[in-house]
Amino acid sequence: MTQHFIVIGNPIAHSKSPKIHTLFAEQTGIDIRYQRQYCPDDNASFTAVVEAFFHGGGVGANVTVPFKQVAYDCCLSRGGLSEHAKIAGAVNTLLLNKALLDKGAPIAEALYGDNTDGQGLINHMTSLGWPLTGARVALIGAGGAARGIVLPLIEAGIASLTIANRTLYKATELVNELSAASPMIAEQHIDACETAQLSGSFDMIINATSIGLSADTLPLSESLNCQYAYDMMYGRPLPFLQHFAARSAQTSDGYGMLIGQAALSFERWTGHTIDVAQATAILNKS
Ligand code: NDP
Repeated sequence: MTQHFIVIGNPIAHSKSPKIHTLFAEQTGIDIRYQRQYCPDDNASFTAVVEAFFHGGGVGANVTVPFKQVAYDCCLSRGGLSEHAKIAGAVNTLLLNKALLDKGAPIAEALYGDNTDGQGLINHMTSLGWPLTGARVALIGAGGAARGIVLPLIEAGIASLTIANRTLYKATELVNELSAASPMIAEQHIDACETAQLSGSFDMIINATSIGLSADTLPLSESLNCQYAYDMMYGRPLPFLQHFAARSAQTSDGYGMLIGQAALSFERWTGHTIDVAQATAILNKS
């Protein structure tokens, strides 16, 4: 029987998720239909779309911009949230809480949210052979994407973390909020600074800002350097990566993270493990 999945967003026409998940289905021999689902940008429409989808027999949904926080709110008051979704304050993967359904809960009350973005990033870095254990990491950005990767980075065993952001108070607030939410994060000393003040040597610098969507460039200090530079953005030339490639750093854009988070969502929904290296090789050629 065909299993149905969607990715909900606005805009959504550009999403590569249907292509990625269709490949996963081919790899695992599962019959699926995975579609893009446009949704008007308001909370009521999002809830209506989600409920109609699961009432219609849908198995799982991905959530993308601008609905990750709304999805979090929906799950908070219903079937629940994974630890990573709780800390991230955002949901990118929706499914139904089977334990609640078995107890007779209505579908609308059984919505469960997970967040696979951060672990997708860690898995991609690991596949590249980038050492995370003991790494001194600088993370630029203090929005939703940055929030979702702090716990996975700490779980991966990094030695230190500095969060830099254009608006300093948002970086400070993020550190305080995450430390209050997770004992593991509270144990890690995290510095916060303005992006323009970020300086010195790091093992790894991650760009989790949305600057790649604009014509702006980050104000990177001349004294800033690293061995590995990662930009979560993908699909276009990225000045952040060009800056560090010119200084001999290894670099990567975020396409592998996208595939990585998708693989974890697929595994969560279907119980089938994805050969991410094989899928990435195929997707990179297509
Ligand atoms: P948010 O809107 O939540 O946060 C945006 C961040 O970018 C803030 O820190 C903001 O700083 C900073 N920023 C925006 N414009 C500028 C600018 N002109 N100069 C300096 N800083 C700027 O976005 P998200 O966190 O949700 O997403 C960030 C990026 O991560 C996006 O490009 C998204 O595509 C990517 N992403 C990639 C994924 C993948 O799988 N590869 C998964 C998830 C996200 P300030 O606080 O000062 O406004």
